[in-house]
Amino acid sequence: MLELRAIDKVYESRQGRVTAVEGVSLKLEKGEFCVLLGPSGAGKSTVLRVINGMTQATNGEVSFDGELVTRRNRRSIQNRIGTIHQQFFLVPRLSVLDNVLSGMLPKLGFLRSMLKLFASADRKRACELLGKVELKESQLYQKAGKLSGGQQQRVAIARAFIRNPDLVLADEPVASLDPSTSRGILRLLRGAAHETGATVLCSLHQVDLAHEFADRIVAMRQGKLVFDGKPSELDEAM
Ligand code: ADP
Ligand code: ADP
Repeated sequence: MLELRAIDKVYESRQGRVTAVEGVSLKLEKGEFCVLLGPSGAGKSTVLRVINGMTQATNGEVSFDGELVTRRNRRSIQNRIGTIHQQFFLVPRLSVLDNVLSGMLPKLGFLRSMLKLFASADRKRACELLGKVELKESQLYQKAGKLSGGQQQRVAIARAFIRNPDLVLADEPVASLDPSTSRGILRLLRGAAHETGATVLCSLHQVDLAHEFADRIVAMRQGKLVFDGKPSELDEAM
């Protein structure tokens, strides 16, 4: 469903040129839970940003369901992608429910006035999703900023799935959480993906978590792919 062909990304700044990603080619199949594994600085975030169009590759091509991503169709493809970040990026002063509904909107402008206009069907779906990520009904109208990190990330998962995305990109979603909370989050993310049929590409730096949750591991080091296979094959390769 997603294909990267020979992606390079070179950042240019006053400090000089940094080759963040070099020659990355990758095909994701529908419904796969793929972990992008690598240490900090390996280029994982850059790959995810190239896929969601936040940054442009220096060389190479991205296609989505066989369709080449171009400047012209980029927006419609972005609408089919949900994202989850290490820092959650909820709107702290909005309620949990409104944060999930905000996932329906392409931009955060006019958010408050728009949120009132959502149909009850959307609210129902948001509540259902929040139930699936195990938030209590009593938490739906709390301000998102009051929740713990693990709870905020569960809200962010619900937000990422509200538009029924074909692809969910998660950039180190558990890097700021403790190990047991991290496992809970990855379990919920995996469950949501399997239930909806969404493909997930999730970056991690912890090998043990990758082993535990991935259907497939793609490992990066210094901008390059160094492994692509089943978790059980990783140890022999590295
Ligand atoms: P990871 O997600 O694996 O930590 P990144 O994709 O964030 O890796 O970074 C890969 C390399 O690119 C690093 O050396 C990083 O410093 C550099 N880099 C990332 N973003 C930028 C940027 N906006 N400008 C310059 N260099 C960057
Ligand atoms: P990263 O995964 O490295 O955070 P993103 O693709 O999420 O990269 O976005 C690039 C930058 O834009 C981030 O480093 C972050 O500072 C900012 N950003 C992205 N999304 C949001 C958001 N919803 N609210 C505030 N800042 C954001």
